[in-house]
This record gives sequence, structure tokens and C-alpha cells, in this order.
Amino acid sequence: MTLHRVLVANRGEIAVRIIRACRDLGMETVQVHSSADENSLPVKLADESVLIGPPPASQSYLLPKVLVEAALKTGCDAVHPGYGFLSENAEFAELCAQAGLRFIGPSAEVIRLMGDKSAARRAAIEAGVPVTPGSTDPIVDRAEGLKLAREIGFPVLIKASAGGGGRGMRVVESEAGFDAALDSATREAESAFGNGEVYIEKYLPRVRHIEVQIMGDGVDIVHFGERDCSIQRRHQKLVEESPSPALSEKQRADIADAACRLARKVAYCGAGTMEFILDPASGDFYFIEMNTRIQVEHPVTEMVTNSDLVKMQLVIADTGKLPVTQDDVVFCGHAIECRINAEDPERGFMPKPGKLTDLILPSGPGVRVDSHVYQGYDLPPYYDSLMAKVITWGRDREEALARMKRALGEMEITGVPSTVAFHQRLLSEPAFLEGDVHTRFVRESMWAGHPMQGML
Ligand code: ADP
Ligand code: ADP
Ligand code: MG
Repeated sequence: MTLHRVLVANRGEIAVRIIRACRDLGMETVQVHSSADENSLPVKLADESVLIGPPPASQSYLLPKVLVEAALKTGCDAVHPGYGFLSENAEFAELCAQAGLRFIGPSAEVIRLMGDKSAARRAAIEAGVPVTPGSTDPIVDRAEGLKLAREIGFPVLIKASAGGGGRGMRVVESEAGFDAALDSATREAESAFGNGEVYIEKYLPRVRHIEVQIMGDGVDIVHFGERDCSIQRRHQKLVEESPSPALSEKQRADIADAACRLARKVAYCGAGTMEFILDPASGDFYFIEMNTRIQVEHPVTEMVTNSDLVKMQLVIADTGKLPVTQDDVVFCGHAIECRINAEDPERGFMPKPGKLTDLILPSGPGVRVDSHVYQGYDLPPYYDSLMAKVITWGRDREEALARMKRALGEMEITGVPSTVAFHQRLLSEPAFLEGDVHTRFVRESMWAGHPMQGML
């Protein structure tokens, strides 16, 4: 190992996950934290911690210079950005490199190319990977935008080039709603990402979200199969599973092949995910974006490939080489993840932080829980509402589902609302059990007639 000490430039469950991988490799960890995260689990688990600022992320976790200083001050030689925050920020990657710190992820250049959605679409087209019909150029003019939308045909989706976490995105059903949607998408993107650039693509209803996990070292690219993330609300994932119940073996091979082709085209290095939507009726799939980082739902893939993807990120950063070949990746069984958020599904999945007065987390055969919460923990209101990820593995989908049902039944969370009951209800939906869902399933089927339906 040439790397010895890693700055964990994130918080919550992914910070815990990174600390665990470092420890398995014998690397030391330094955990950054805002004043709201003083009592957080990653702070307790890391070898050292550094206060980086007040609670708002804009004054702490989102400050590249402050993080680089923290790394240098504590003798780190590498920085792991996790997901969200600065994980897809090219300037941060650049700043790390300039300071002699190894950024655990692709180069700033590749982040710039693939982290920007409209640029990534152009790269996909060049690699011969199908993309959703639409533009590859930003909309600069309202009239031009509307003209393009007419050509593409409604419904269209207005998307922020810098978007993420379902934000900066507006579905436009017809011409009448175009102007207002363009304005609000631009405004939201400006305030969330500091970049108001938007583009238009065709909105395909009732699709599945299928994504391919890849790992690269700039020369070789290996894939770890797909994840099906079709259960969503507000364009955000709630449940992920692997393998997808919707793919034929031919489609599975084709989509993995497309993902590898695109990764190879950009000489990708590190962990990445190519996201696609699949039209189950035609069997056609389209690239929508790449995430140039580890994803929330990576454990699903770890369970079916018996691998440690975060450890692999660290090894690639350390040695510059992929430690596996495609033949080493062996798929076994089925895994499902349910995201347990401090949100009230009955009130449109509104987040509600607070103190976890009682907490029982599940375990037992085939159950994994990735979490940073503990009994008595006070969830700060400033960040993401994710409390835990419950992942189950089974020899087949049926066994994974049975174990998920068991695991959710063991859970007890008091003090804040949670999405546990939502997942339990989902697990009794015949369409979900049959694997026959789409990205609007929660909104259109489960929440049909609900007063909050419009919010999903
Ligand atoms: P994944 O893509 O890993 O499934 P999500 O889309 O749920 O994960 O995003 C994970 C976290 O990262 C969320 O907190 C989300 O708000 C945040 N996030 C994702 N992309 C971006 C981005 N481009 N900018 C800022 N935050 C982002
Ligand atoms: P984010 O960066 O916020 O994750 P994505 O581009 O990945 O944004 O889109 C988020 C979700 O929105 C997808 O998982 C999918 O459900 C939906 N979506 C994105 N593009 C389309 C499209 N062209 N047609 C239909 N649904 C889409
Ligand atoms: Mg996405």
C-alpha cells in the first residue's frame, strides 16, 4: 500500500462504509464533520476527526478548500468523497490532485465529461450507445426550447445538466406547461447546483430504471451486472435489486456491453454507474446518465458478486490497477435493498428529522444493514433523510424477498417517521412480487387517489 491515511469527505452511512473498507485494508481514517455531526457514528469510528464548520453543508461538507486543508493538516494522503456532496465535483478532484492528495474517483477531466449530463449524452452517442431522444445542447432560448420540444414530441423532460438526486427535473405534459417548467427547472438547478443549464429529452412513461455497475483502471473495464431501481418517488430510488427481474439474458448482456463500451470510450478509472431506462414493451434501452462515484445502492451488487466495491475503489486508487478481471466476477443469487428514510410516506414522503428514542435493527441469515444511526441519535435536519439501508440476499428472488419481509418485521424505529411501513406494503403488492413495475408505480398504483399523489 502506498496510501496510508484517508480523509472521509462525507457523512452518514457512506462515511461509516468507507471507514470499514479502510480498516479492512489497514488504512487509517480521518472523519470530517460539521458541528451538527459531532456525535455521529463515523466520528466515533474513525481514527481521528476534524471539525470543518457549521451545520449547513454549504458552509462545511461542500467547501473544497476547507476539506483539502483538513486532509493536509491531519496528514492524509487520500480523500474519499462518498456520494452526493462533492463526489462529482471536478474542481474538488483537481484541488486534491494539486495538493498531492489522491482523489478516490476518476480524474477531474473525466468527471467533467461524464458528470455533466448533456456532455455524457454526447459521449454516449459517440460510443454508439443509444440515448433517449432529445437534444445534446443546452437550451439557451425559450422559443428554441419550445420548438425542440415540439419536434421531440410531448411529454418531454427538462433536465439540469448538473442535476442529481431527482432535482432540477420537470416533466412537461403539453405545450401549455413548457414555459413555467423551464423557469422552475432552471431556478432549481441554479440554487441546488449553482448551474442553471438545462436540456430536453423525450419523457418515456412506464419505463424501468436499469443501471450497470462498472469498475475501471483507465485501461481495463469490468462490469458487475445490473441493478433494477424502478421503485421510485419524485425520480428518487426507494428500492433496488439485482439481477433485474425484467431482463432476458440477451438484454442483460447487451446493456452491460453498452455500459462497458461507454466506459472504455472515456478510459474510465474507478467505480462508476451507467444509468439506463428500459422500455419493457419494446425491449429498447436508453442511456440517461453516468454517476462517476460509488452509489447508495452498491451493496446490492456486493451481495450478488461477493465483492467489496469500496475496498476496490481504494485499491484502484492505490495501485492504479483493477484487482479483478471479468472472469473473476461471479454472480450468485439475488439481492434487494430498501432505503429506510426518516420520512412520512403518508404525507408525500416528507422528511422529518428528530431523536431516535427506540431503535431495533434487523439481522440474521442473509441480512445486511448499512447505517449510521443508533438508539438516542438525534438526526440533524440539515442533511439527507437516509437512516439505514436494509439489504437481503437469497439464492433466488423469492428467498431474498422473504428475508426482507422478515427483516422489516423485526425493525422498530420510534421518535421519527420511517419508510418501513411503505416497504412492507410494497412487499405485498402482487405487481411488485411478480417483478412487473415501472418508475411511476408508487405514484400511479400505490398512491392512486391519495391526497398526496401529486407530490410523488
Ligand atoms: P444514487 O445515484 O447513488 O442512487 P441518489 O440519487 O439517491 O443516489 O443520491 C445520493 C445522494 O447524493 C443524495 O443525497 C442526493 O441528493 C445526492 N446527489 C446525487 N447527485 C448529486 C449531485 N449531482 N449534486 C448534489 N447532490 C447529489
Ligand atoms: P438524477 O441525476 O437526479 O438521478 P436521472 O437522469 O438519473 O437523474 O433521472 C432520475 C430518474 O428520472 C430516473 O431514474 C427515471 O426514473 C427518471 N427519468 C429520467 N429520464 C427519463 C426519461 N427520459 N423518461 C422517463 N423517465 C426518466
Ligand atoms: Mg440518476
